[in-house]
Amino acid sequence: MEKKEKIIKNLEKPIQKIRFIVQLLFALLCIWIGIEFSQFVLFLETAGAADFSYRPPGVEGFLPISALMSVYYFILSGNIHPIHPAGFFIFLAIVGVSLAFGKSFCSWMCPIGTLSEFVGEFGEKIHKKFFKRRIKIWKYLDYVLRSLKYLLLFFFAFSIFSMTSLALEYFLDGAYNIMADVKMWYFFANISQFSLIVIGVLFLLSIIYRNFWCRYLCPYGALLGITSLLSPAKIKRNPVSCIDCALCAKACPSFIKVDKVLTVRSDECTTCLNCVDVCPVKDTLELKLIGNEKKINKKTVAFGVVLLFVAITGFGMITGNWHNKIPKEIYIELYKNINSIGHPRSISDINKLNKESEKGVENGR
Ligand code: SF4
Ligand code: SF4
Repeated sequence: MEKKEKIIKNLEKPIQKIRFIVQLLFALLCIWIGIEFSQFVLFLETAGAADFSYRPPGVEGFLPISALMSVYYFILSGNIHPIHPAGFFIFLAIVGVSLAFGKSFCSWMCPIGTLSEFVGEFGEKIHKKFFKRRIKIWKYLDYVLRSLKYLLLFFFAFSIFSMTSLALEYFLDGAYNIMADVKMWYFFANISQFSLIVIGVLFLLSIIYRNFWCRYLCPYGALLGITSLLSPAKIKRNPVSCIDCALCAKACPSFIKVDKVLTVRSDECTTCLNCVDVCPVKDTLELKLIGNEKKINKKTVAFGVVLLFVAITGFGMITGNWHNKIPKEIYIELYKNINSIGHPRSISDINKLNKESEKGVENGR
């Protein structure tokens, strides 16, 4: 009661409108990339007869496995692999943003995160109307389901990190990797009935339970969850001025009990700042730097997230590591056999193949 009398109202403006604008701009950018890429595919389909031959490098942002391979290749060889250089820098930008500001890519930029958020909000409105509360999954089942995305991440990371540098080159230089974006395009353009059903089920589950895909299945989210734990920016609650209204916990899309902790150290916190916006007491819930308790202004997060992303991808552009150097003629030639270009053998087969070729070279010496 005493606490309530001492409330100093939080008059700070919410940041959600700016976050929405950033989300919208990134979603529009992805749509624009999709339109340009569709023109590029048309160019290939017509064997170069169509006018438009520009391949937007941003499409490589949708090839995270190839990007992770490029990062590992860079670690092993010190070189940026030339097939999908933009994918390499987009990957670094996404991880960099999450290291600086927590898992912010998910709530500020990711188009799937944006879609998931809108679907989740729609679902919550329905729940509140009919059940008067948010639906929550039993906490132990929630732990098990949340581990799925980490298992997927572990599977991809293990497969990639067990490759030799030669095996990586074999995959990254291969026709499959070069045409991976075109194949991905056809996956969605000619989507199978089974894939449609899977997407439909995920959509329904996201209405029933907020952020179902992001929370349980997205391996990219798992990676960013891990990097976000290393981030110095954390949501902190001042227990002295807190009036225990629990508005922060109710507003949290990740179901974090913000009102029960002093510092949010969750791999599910996406730095959306919803909790900070709704807190009614001044200087009670803030994003701060751990260690020196310095407050990070909400606008600093907004500009920081965008500027850091632009700076890292911009570095790729100005250093000439953005457009790949594959001639259009090669793309046209490869496109002729697009249906027979399959995924290369398993990672162990690729490694075996490389070891055999290494032996062959040695024996030939
Ligand atoms: S704790 Fe706050 S910033 Fe983190 S996800 Fe929840 S509402 Fe967003
Ligand atoms: S919103 Fe959360 S941090 Fe702010 S006063 Fe209420 S319980 Fe405390």
